[in-house]
Amino acid sequence: MPIYEYKCRECGAEFEELVSSRGENPECPRCGSPKTEKLMSACKSGTGGASKGDFGLPPMPPGGGCGSAGGG
Ligand SMILES: [Zn+2]
Repeated sequence: MPIYEYKCRECGAEFEELVSSRGENPECPRCGSPKTEKLMSACKSGTGGASKGDFGLPPMPPGGGCGSAGGG
């Protein structure tokens, strides 16, 4: 079963949930709020291509799409 990442719009907790044939969003396991939104699986840890040993590369591009620390 595919696992999707969800984010609670109430407390901002991120969690993974097994998505079944249903189309409803799961409840937040933290606060139990149904106000959850599905996140794109683009932020998944899927680094590949770059050879190991390259420590000169920057940790992360500024203003990326993943992990934006923005207070709502
Ligand atoms: Zn929550």
